[in-house]
Amino acid sequence: MDYAKQKAALEAKLADHEIRLAGVTKDITKTLSSDFAEQATERENDDVLEEIGKETQLSIAHIKAALQRIDDDTYGLCAGCGEEIAEGRLEAIPESTHCVKCADKAA
Ligand SMILES: [Zn+2]
Repeated sequence: MDYAKQKAALEAKLADHEIRLAGVTKDITKTLSSDFAEQATERENDDVLEEIGKETQLSIAHIKAALQRIDDDTYGLCAGCGEEIAEGRLEAIPESTHCVKCADKAA
């Protein structure tokens, strides 16, 4: 099985997420305005940004792990049952580690 398509999709996704993460980090480190009321709003925004940042970092880790699995030739195998993950699923979610059946069981 050739996973060139998934690899390209993963690499595109990774680049996209890294740009997003860089944007989030930049926004958080921006200095607070002198206006006190505005500072409160900015802190709230920072919390939201931090959440997005964490989620993005997690996604990046998943994508990198998937790319590693392609290199290791273990990509496309379910981490739960060891069966091959359906190609349609890998196209929809290239970083998936479980087949539909195991993902359903976990959910
Ligand atoms: Zn499975």
